[in-house]
Amino acid sequence: MCREVLAAMGIPPQRAEQYPHELSGGMRQRVMIGLGIVLRPRLVVADEPTTALDTLVQAQILQLLRDLADEHGIAVLLITHNLGAVAETCDRVAVMYAGRIVEVGPVDQILATPRHPYTQGLLASVIHLGTATLTSIPGAPPDLADPPPGCRFHPRCPHVMPLCRSHGTPPEPAAASRPGGGA
Ligand code: SF4
Repeated sequence: MCREVLAAMGIPPQRAEQYPHELSGGMRQRVMIGLGIVLRPRLVVADEPTTALDTLVQAQILQLLRDLADEHGIAVLLITHNLGAVAETCDRVAVMYAGRIVEVGPVDQILATPRHPYTQGLLASVIHLGTATLTSIPGAPPDLADPPPGCRFHPRCPHVMPLCRSHGTPPEPAAASRPGGGA
């Protein structure tokens, strides 16, 4: 079984005899994903699976996660700060800020027409070939032990209104949300 799973992860089965320090970072990540699917789960939670890997290995790991979904029928919940990984891997995305979901919907729709100011700020911060100046969201994430009242994003929001400081609103599906609202 161990060798079968290694082969499914793209690792030669004879590598099963080796210690972790004899494997590359990408191979170790594949082994961890293999451990996660060995009991045939219906859901795999992949928490920052590409952190500290180079770009090429990142692409291989994301392809592996897609294969898990497409070929093995396993649902994959990807937790990441990497919006490129979301764009390449996911069907739906839930954007979280300060421990709460602020926007949720199909990936294509959220990336093309983000409604929440935090999502808009995140996407504006992504660096691409045409980037001339770096953009960031002013301020810093709140202390979750003492979060701001009302909408948790209000200290950083460019569209903040007096009501936002006392009232938050639940996230809405992307298709039904309003520009600037929904935190
Ligand atoms: S509720 Fe107000 S502060 Fe929060 S994201 Fe919407 S506009 Fe900005």
